[in-house]
Amino acid sequence: MYKIALLPGDGIGQEIVPQGVRVFKHAAGKFGFDVEFEEALVGGAAIDALGVPLPDETLALCQNSDAILLGAVGGPKWDTLPVHLRPEGAALLKMRKALGLYANIRPVRMLPSLLKASTLKEEVLQGVDMVVFRELTGGLYFGEKGRREVNGEMQAFDSLVYSVSEIQRIARQGFEAARKRRGKLCSVDKANVLESSRLWRETVNELAEEYPDVELTHMYVDNCAMQLVRWPLQFDVIITENMFGDILTDLASMLSGSIGMLASASLGGKVGLFEPAHGSAPDIAGQNKANPLATILSVALLLRYGLGQEHAATAIEGAVSKVLDLGYRTGDIYEPGTKLVGTVEMTDMVLGNL
Ligand code: NAD
Repeated sequence: MYKIALLPGDGIGQEIVPQGVRVFKHAAGKFGFDVEFEEALVGGAAIDALGVPLPDETLALCQNSDAILLGAVGGPKWDTLPVHLRPEGAALLKMRKALGLYANIRPVRMLPSLLKASTLKEEVLQGVDMVVFRELTGGLYFGEKGRREVNGEMQAFDSLVYSVSEIQRIARQGFEAARKRRGKLCSVDKANVLESSRLWRETVNELAEEYPDVELTHMYVDNCAMQLVRWPLQFDVIITENMFGDILTDLASMLSGSIGMLASASLGGKVGLFEPAHGSAPDIAGQNKANPLATILSVALLLRYGLGQEHAATAIEGAVSKVLDLGYRTGDIYEPGTKLVGTVEMTDMVLGNL
């Protein structure tokens, strides 16, 4: 019996998490395990109900579960709140820190049937299969920040801080993953400008001595952004710090057709957090238009990395590929000649092929 904390959050989170649960229950029945779900408030929904974006009871539920499935948080309604109440900062960053989730894993794979859905050329995308490891609890998003008046003018600052141990633990995850894949690791930094990047690079180089079988390269983040759209096939495993990873993974989502396809796993502590890489998409919320596949693929990651149910994970990924091969598409991946379906119908198709 597994206990899963469900945090739908805001916007399309309310629509896609229930679809992920349908697939989860079906997989549990098929692969012979029991699962119990308990839902809690997070983000704007929690602010509206309880006045805080991450209520204590939500965090307690997360800490006492086997894994967490999250939708998305945030939206225009809460954008003007003070920083300590904003859903993204105060809920997500606090949850990551409290649960020790220092490694965010985002697999980016181009499924052949989606080759035409991306804005990039087919010949650039064919065969793309990489994993990005983003450091999640350090760097600019967690460093000291504030405002101060200097010479009568307001100034704002954010500090980018990394310690050797923080770099080592995420880099180790990258080396281990590369070892199990094609043996190539690219470490992304800005060592020509940033001191934190120079420490990052030195630390990764030292660790590389333990992994002689992994081919290590370094790349500046600006070049990496360009290389991801120029020749993405060169990448196997990428490791990078928090903010660079935030930006590069959104960019890389177009290598898998749409941000609505990209799943993510945040690991490092006792309990893993699994969520689609996209946000709450307020522009399409409540219209049955959201692509549920990133959430369904996040359920697959949860089964694999959170519960060790590899067969169930592979079966879900197979069902998603099959549905796409059959030509079913939500609006974000639609192309002429394919069948346009909504959030619920897309999930029905996955269930029918699982
Ligand atoms: P977004 O990812 O929500 O949306 C960007 C674009 O992609 C929109 O046009 C949206 O319609 C589309 N899109 C996203 N997911 C989709 C899906 N599953 N199916 C179809 N189309 C999809 O990013 P944004 O617009 O920058 O942010 C909206 C809100 O979400 C903001 O409040 C932001 O802070 C928040 N956000 C939350 C998270 C999170 O909870 N992890 C991550 C990113 C942004």
